[in-house]
Amino acid sequence: MKSRGPTAEGLLALRGLPPTVDATTAEAVARDLYGLTARATPLDGERDRNFRLDTSDGRQLVLKFIDHEADDVVVDGQSAALMHIAETSPLLPVPRVVPLAGAGANVGAAASCRVRLVSFVPGRLMQDVRPTTGTPSARTGLLRSVGNHIAQLDRALVGFFHPALAQPIAWDVRRAQALLPMLAHVQPPELQRTLGAALHPLEQLLQRMRGLRSQAIHGDCHGSNLLVNDAGDACVGIIDLGDMIHAPLVQEIAVTMAELLSDAVASLDELPGLLTGYTSLQPLERADIEVLYDLIAARIAVGVLIQVWRERDGAHAPANTDLAIASGAALDALASRGKERLTQQWLESAGIESVRMDRGRVIAADLVRRRHDALGANAELSYDQPLHLVRGEGVWVYTSDAERLLDVYNNVPHVGHAHPIVVAAIANQAKRIASNTRYLDTRIIEYVERLTETLPPDLDACLFVNSGSEANDIAWRMAKSHTGHEGALVMRFAYHGITDAVTALSPAICPKVPPHVEQVAAPKMSPDAGETDTLNAIAAAAEADIANAIARLESRGFKPAALMIDSALTSTGIYDPPPTWIAPIAAAVRKAGGLVIGDEVQFGLGRSGSHFWGFTRRGYHPDIVTLGKPVGNGYPLGVIITRRALLEKFQRDTGFFSTFGGNPVAAAAGLAVLDVLDKERLVENARATGDYFVRRLKELAQTQPIVRNVRGCGLMIGVELTDRATTKRVVNGLRERGVMTGSEGPLGNVLKLRPPMPFRMEHVEIVIEALNATLSAGR
Ligand code: PMP
Repeated sequence: MKSRGPTAEGLLALRGLPPTVDATTAEAVARDLYGLTARATPLDGERDRNFRLDTSDGRQLVLKFIDHEADDVVVDGQSAALMHIAETSPLLPVPRVVPLAGAGANVGAAASCRVRLVSFVPGRLMQDVRPTTGTPSARTGLLRSVGNHIAQLDRALVGFFHPALAQPIAWDVRRAQALLPMLAHVQPPELQRTLGAALHPLEQLLQRMRGLRSQAIHGDCHGSNLLVNDAGDACVGIIDLGDMIHAPLVQEIAVTMAELLSDAVASLDELPGLLTGYTSLQPLERADIEVLYDLIAARIAVGVLIQVWRERDGAHAPANTDLAIASGAALDALASRGKERLTQQWLESAGIESVRMDRGRVIAADLVRRRHDALGANAELSYDQPLHLVRGEGVWVYTSDAERLLDVYNNVPHVGHAHPIVVAAIANQAKRIASNTRYLDTRIIEYVERLTETLPPDLDACLFVNSGSEANDIAWRMAKSHTGHEGALVMRFAYHGITDAVTALSPAICPKVPPHVEQVAAPKMSPDAGETDTLNAIAAAAEADIANAIARLESRGFKPAALMIDSALTSTGIYDPPPTWIAPIAAAVRKAGGLVIGDEVQFGLGRSGSHFWGFTRRGYHPDIVTLGKPVGNGYPLGVIITRRALLEKFQRDTGFFSTFGGNPVAAAAGLAVLDVLDKERLVENARATGDYFVRRLKELAQTQPIVRNVRGCGLMIGVELTDRATTKRVVNGLRERGVMTGSEGPLGNVLKLRPPMPFRMEHVEIVIEALNATLSAGR
């Protein structure tokens, strides 16, 4: 068969050979470039020439002389990936890059080729620990541990991007078409037939793989890159990221399964354990497992074709016939067990198979019962079919029965569920110390400096607590003590938290509004409603409204201590009024001697897309700002920001101290959130995605009369439906279609769309499709 597709010439790893360097040169390079006195011992390496260095100060390192033909981008990619992993998963046993001792290019003067120095990861090669060598329980432990470590590595690589990930690696099954001409040269004919059968479904396989979740993967976790302990029952390291690519996630474990099988490092019966270990940390989906059989078979076949290519190339040693025979045997074993049976077994191992699903439901029902007893029958529980969430990643969450849902509701994971940089920051600090603000610590100071940089200059000092409720409680106490007044102004159906004082300021949960509290209406307007007359009319109505509210307070003997306002007007129904609305309200409150408290628990940190702070979009200047929910991305953190003088007086009067408030772990989380927001340009994303989301929802409203109004901005969007019961049905219908939302507003008829900030246009399309289907189905 003649291939008209890509040719093998463009593929990496077919040509390169390790540079010829001896131990003496390695020792000289260690001295010249890294200032190390060390003894060099050669190590194995397929493309790089590697030496273990035993340094005079007792350290063990690996000096790698890089294949002459390796692309600079790829060389840089490996270092960048190792540094990314060091940041996101500092405990993962992979090599750490050792920087050069002084300035200079990474070109070994003595060897005239590129070098990299990394830490030595101790352990035996898994290749040397055969199935027959361990007890059954040691083998089970080993395979699970290997799967788990590979999953940890994949989790650590989330969010890693580099041009090197596009390198055309010959072993990447997606490039197998270029190797197909080699099939004709495979001997003996039986092997050729076996490989042909394995590659027969290639085109269809590649088609199916295109729709799968992709990310950076190691891509080459085989027996010589996996390290195990002496007892042979646990994985202790993963090395060599030279074949790293951006590929479907399932390709990672498929490569390992294929390699362990064809090298006879694991038996077919042991592979489910590997998969269980992997999916216990990194769930796979049904669609992933369904390509696994063909992917494994194709990878094994590709290994043999590369051998044949190399042999014909003449630059490499003759084909390893043992490997070809073992590969053929592995393919025969797969074929005799059968695709259907193995896929079913692997679905079970990955926790997806239907028996497990039923078991999952039984477990969920049991949990609901236990929860009822433990947390009380009235503890809020979302959805008719409650979710047992076990993991989150970005904008996705996973249930105990491997169901994946798009999270369009939760704003606490502001920069995405389990963001590796935030998780690493929390873990790293927790490993050092979790003390409190009575001791000196740089982190909390740096956090205040970073936060206040984004705020108006007069808001220059912070107090720390552990929740939005506490932050509002303290802000309210400050306002009362500063003004000597006792009255409060809040928005209609506002929510500010659960302490005694702020529950009173939350008509959403306190239907009998106490005498010291008055509510102000929110205009049902959006800024694009914008004619001058309309804006003036809004301002006039607001002026009258606040004057009446203050008068009513005063008639009951209260002067306003503060206006407290959630800039997103969330529980009020998610409105986005123009600044002309709030200006007269804030002015009247100040004139009556009150302060303005901006509750930024919902709208802060860029959710509006247009501004970092919600009060800037709304058009007022708060005296006190309160923060909660998103600031720690899930780690409890509440902040009160105000003028230094006001804060210092409060500290003097009350001796304020919160045990957990502002602890170094919370500060590390807060700093990491700011870093990620910046690095991933998430505020800009909120704007672009939010604009698109509103536009698509408005288009949908044209064909779905149940949708009455679409409003909001950025990633805080309200979709007003006809009534409460319909909204509840829609929320449950969306949940059944894999989309998490909630309801909001005094009438409970506003669908609340408030996803994590890395929400993209492709996710919007998923919501639109599910919403359209739900509305059309009437449930
Ligand atoms: N303020 C607003 C605007 C909120 O939305 C919330 C929580 N929904 C709070 C305060 C209270 O925050 P927490 O639940 O962290 O106490």
